Amino acid sequence: MYCILKVKGGNKAALIVAAILLIAAILVGILVPDQEPVLDTSAEETSYTLVIDPGHGGIDGGATAADGTKESDINLAIALKLRALAEFYGQDNAMTRQDDSSMSGTESYSEHDDLVNRTGLVNSTENPVLISIHQNCYPTGQPSGPQVIYSSADSSECLGKLTHQNLISKLYPDNRRVAEPASSKLYVLNHVSCPAILVECGFMSNLSDMGKLADSSYQTALSTVLMASFLQYRAGIANT
Ligand SMILES: [Zn+2]
Repeated sequence: MYCILKVKGGNKAALIVAAILLIAAILVGILVPDQEPVLDTSAEETSYTLVIDPGHGGIDGGATAADGTKESDINLAIALKLRALAEFYGQDNAMTRQDDSSMSGTESYSEHDDLVNRTGLVNSTENPVLISIHQNCYPTGQPSGPQVIYSSADSSECLGKLTHQNLISKLYPDNRRVAEPASSKLYVLNHVSCPAILVECGFMSNLSDMGKLADSSYQTALSTVLMASFLQYRAGIANT
C-alpha cells in the first residue's frame, strides 16, 4: 500500500496525468512495495521546494543523437513527468523552464547567462533541492547507463548516491558507474548552496540507451525513480 501525502496544489489535468504516470510506473514494477518510500508526518514538516531543471533549451539543444533528437527535448520530457509526479505528491516545486526555451535572457544567446539565471532561480527559491536533468554523450557508442553527479553542498552526496543506486537497481542493473562529485566545470552545481544533483539519464551516443531515452514509458520510469528517490531523501532528512 502506498502512502500518499495530501495534495497541496496543482490543477486537475496535472493530477490526472500524474495518476496515469503512477499507475504506469506501478505496472512496470518501478515502485515495488519493498522499496516504497516511507513517509510519515514528520517528513511533512520539512517544506522543501523541488527545483526541476531540464538542461539546455531553445537554441542550445545540448547533445544530438544520430537521428537528430535533441538532448534538450528529452530533458524536458522527463522533467515534465517528474513535475506531474511532484504535483501528485503535493510537493512544492519549480521549473527552470517549461518549454523549448533557454534562460539566457539576452537577445543573442549566452550559455553563461543561461546558467547564471538558472542558478539565480535556485538560490532565490525557499529551501530548494535541485534535480538537474541531462543526457550524456561520448565520441564512441560504447559507454552507456545513467550516472548521478552531486554538488559539494550539504547532503547532496546523500541524495546523489541514493538516486544513483535507485536508477541502477531499478532500471540498469548491469551499470558499473558510480555517483560522483561535480567537477569545477559544472557551473550550476558549483554555484548553488542547496542540496543539488545532476542526473545524466543515459548516453545519447549509445544506440541501446538512445532507444530507451526517446521512449515515453522509459521516461516515465526515469521520472518515477527520481521522484521516489527525492521522497526517500526527504523522509530520511526529516527523521534525522
Ligand atoms: Zn546536457
